[in-house]
Amino acid sequence: VTRWHGFLDRQIATRPDALAVTDTTGARWSFADLGRAVDALADELRQAGTRAGDRVLVLSENSAASIAALFACSRIGAWALPVNARLTAGELDRILAHAEPAAALMTTAVSPDAQAHADRMGAREITGPFGAMHLATPHPSNPAEEEDVAVLLYTTGTTGTPKGVMLTHDNLCFAGPSSAMIRGLEAEDVIYGVLPVTHVFGLASVVTGGMCAGARIRLEPRFRVERLYQALHEGVTMLSAVPQMHALLMAYTREQGFDRLEGGSLRYVSSGAAPLDPDWKRRAEAFYGVALQNGYGMTETTAAICVTRNEIGDPDISVGPPLPGAEVRIDETVPGGGGGAGEVLTRGPHVMKGYFRNAEATAAALDGQGWLRTGDLGRFDDRGFLHILGRSKELIIHGGFNVYPPEVEAALNEHPKVVQCAVVGHVVDGDEKVLAFVQASPENMPGEEELRAFARERLAGYKRPSRIVVATELPAAPTGKILKHKLVEAFRDRLQ
Ligand code: ATP
Ligand code: MG
Repeated sequence: VTRWHGFLDRQIATRPDALAVTDTTGARWSFADLGRAVDALADELRQAGTRAGDRVLVLSENSAASIAALFACSRIGAWALPVNARLTAGELDRILAHAEPAAALMTTAVSPDAQAHADRMGAREITGPFGAMHLATPHPSNPAEEEDVAVLLYTTGTTGTPKGVMLTHDNLCFAGPSSAMIRGLEAEDVIYGVLPVTHVFGLASVVTGGMCAGARIRLEPRFRVERLYQALHEGVTMLSAVPQMHALLMAYTREQGFDRLEGGSLRYVSSGAAPLDPDWKRRAEAFYGVALQNGYGMTETTAAICVTRNEIGDPDISVGPPLPGAEVRIDETVPGGGGGAGEVLTRGPHVMKGYFRNAEATAAALDGQGWLRTGDLGRFDDRGFLHILGRSKELIIHGGFNVYPPEVEAALNEHPKVVQCAVVGHVVDGDEKVLAFVQASPENMPGEEELRAFARERLAGYKRPSRIVVATELPAAPTGKILKHKLVEAFRDRLQ
């Protein structure tokens, strides 16, 4: 397979009638059905004047139609520009102005947010084998010069303005088999598709890995714990989610009167996109009865760089060895580096082509030999497994000592009233202070003093937060990832 949609074509050729995708609209499409939906959307795009090299906004929440839209772009050589429909109008407008898509497809059947954007953009309804969607033409056709790009995917924006990452057909044709192989995915598997297909983890592992293996994908437009609980009792075998979703599922199951998941057919569970802590991992494994795998990756690397292949009960909280084919090395010369620790650099077929229309950021991230600077700090252990210490930008140097926010976060997360938390550095009068922001439920809010005492028992003096702000909600991306650069601003009045 040399083109992204080739994974689908291979399934159509060999197993046309096998069930490929199901969703909350009641769609149950075989690979042949999915192929017909893709062809029909490709026709709609061509008729709307879209050409190869044009960007096509796929404004969506997970549904069968969202997958058809992605492969339709690939089919006509356009770049799919997957964007989560839950972005605000302002956030979407910034992406539209930068990417100038010639067409926009919107999964209005599953998403009121997509419908609101469709209304605002003057989109028209289209119907066909793909169900009902909306189509708009926000910009005239203006094909990009870069060749072989399949997807333009904006980063989460945790550290600043999202950047447009160009992923090629080659990137995705590598990600498909490697993500399927790492998870042992087979055609009989049923994948729970709750990670947004508009984010690199959903796109690479659920859509691309799933299609490569010919597994069935059960799509969920948004996370609802009771639906996940139900799905796990209806044949789902693969669950990839972020830590927060696992935590909510465990709490919900307890409310149903069970300590652990019973009677499911789950055989693979993974957590990604955020650091894990050992205590929490142990509880999650006891709950699922299978090992919890952790993956480390980023938009710029078509998702995974490293993935664990742990046995159950393994106390290791590394992110595992590099994917076969991916090179990883540590640059110890950066701030916070030394003694084996430093910035994680990676090279190989998973690394992006560059940032779209941002030569400066591309030059800063990619060197002439193809090494990508991840911006994350890490080190290898003696088994050759990578440990992520945190982002280099977020490293806090307090009183001359290095403080890694994930370590402080892990300590606070052990407190029973803490749902999740984020730790950032904040420079006041030349010294960088450690600030913690804790999310708790309104019925169960811990006091700052109670948390401070808890931190004192677990953390060396220089690592302890100077302030702990407790709130019912923290600024977050649609994937649930906390937007750290917005924290100080959001709680400025409470930091006085
Ligand atoms: P932006 O680049 O716009 O600031 P972002 O880096 O959050 O946003 P993504 O590409 O979605 O955008 O996230 C990749 C980052 O997520 C990695 O660079 C790393 O910091 C973090 N990350 C991913 N997986 C893990 C993991 N298993 N453990 C710790 N951190 C992780
Ligand atoms: Mg990033």
